[in-house]
Amino acid sequence: MMLSQEIKARNHGCTKMIDKLAYLTEKEQKHFYRQLTSKLLEVFGQDYYEDETDLQLDFHEWKNGDRKDYHEVVDSILSEIAPEGIEMNWRDLSKLNYKRWHLCSVCGEPFLAIDKFNKIRICNGQDYKRYKIGNENREGSYYKATEKGKSVCFMTYKASKANL
Ligand SMILES: [Zn+2]
Repeated sequence: MMLSQEIKARNHGCTKMIDKLAYLTEKEQKHFYRQLTSKLLEVFGQDYYEDETDLQLDFHEWKNGDRKDYHEVVDSILSEIAPEGIEMNWRDLSKLNYKRWHLCSVCGEPFLAIDKFNKIRICNGQDYKRYKIGNENREGSYYKATEKGKSVCFMTYKASKANL
């Protein structure tokens, strides 16, 4: 019983941007993609974005401006953050294009949509532990950490929909 659930969870992980990492746990993948996102943003991003198009344009220009530089920087990031025992280089990021960069619809921070079909619009920046919404006196204003692996922004979004 437990085992089949574990297998399901792992298979679920397949639907990410990099196939090579599909066998890692959700937690391991999340850790990797978070590091990748912040290191890439350090290279090409600005401190603040008001417009998603600007973010996408910055990435696009960096990636296409000097391919050699892009490959070198990506290789060096990957050599630093690749999970143990996995060799990675820029070719592993073939699905990484400017369309994957978004501003989170909840917190407004830039993030990388790592799902296979680039559908995510809410960042995964911070793990949700226990998020309090609304008024303390109201019933049901606490969400407990039952939704494992969800982000703070996801839970905020969910809470705001619940209150409509
Ligand atoms: Zn967010």
